[in-house]
Amino acid sequence: MAKKKTIITVAPTGAWPKKENNPNVPMTPTEIADEVYACWKAGAAIAHLHMRDDQGNGTMNTAKFEETVGLIRSRYPDCDIVLNLTTSGDIHADDDIRVAHVEKLKPEMASYDCGSMNWLNSGLFINSPAFLERCGKLFQELNVKPEIEAFDPGMIANAAYYLKKGVLVAPLHFQFCMGCANGIPGSMKNLVFMKETMEQLCPGSTWSTFGVGHCAMEMLYGAVALGGHIRVGMEDNVMYAKGQLAESNVQFVERAARVIREYGNDVATPDEAREILSLKK
Ligand code: ZN
Repeated sequence: MAKKKTIITVAPTGAWPKKENNPNVPMTPTEIADEVYACWKAGAAIAHLHMRDDQGNGTMNTAKFEETVGLIRSRYPDCDIVLNLTTSGDIHADDDIRVAHVEKLKPEMASYDCGSMNWLNSGLFINSPAFLERCGKLFQELNVKPEIEAFDPGMIANAAYYLKKGVLVAPLHFQFCMGCANGIPGSMKNLVFMKETMEQLCPGSTWSTFGVGHCAMEMLYGAVALGGHIRVGMEDNVMYAKGQLAESNVQFVERAARVIREYGNDVATPDEAREILSLKK
């Protein structure tokens, strides 16, 4: 029997970690492009990308996305990694700018944060009903697969609502965001609950997960054991292990690939990921 394929997504940058948190976080378009290529060579099938402005703050600036995607494609023509662009890279960005790069670049995937929440106990992360309807319809028009980020089970229920309304179309793909401040804590029990909630409300969906901070390894092993997919990278963790700063995103991808293979699965190639997630090329 063919081995089960597990998809590794790398999230190399995110909106928050700075060079002072870890000097190895890639920030500029060139740094991000080079890191994406190295991670692809190590087994990442999907790259979830955020941009930074020249001061290192998260930005939804379309030109930064364009430059980075252009660099990946021009410098590394052999790199067939699936690109998943964030729509939530700056909590102060308005709804128009949050989708402008998606309209322009038509990536294969983009993030879809299926509800609103407090963010890091300091701000509001707003995804209004109007924005979610707009994104869902736009992504359908452009053949962009939404990666539905669920920070708690209520966001899965919200996705089921939009599926029923036709704003989202099956099969859905979820990213369970575990252990974020103000979201569901990262534990195996909670991961099982997220998966079972998804199976009950949105049967036939695929899922991936990541754990922020100390639950990262538990979520990695949990994803593999429960038949999901995994996201790793410095968006979620600047520490590779307790007391040890990550040297690069590649280090995380290599560890995920080792765990997947030791378990008895194969690491999915980008084309295998496209098939598993029903991406339209
Ligand atoms: Zn992100």
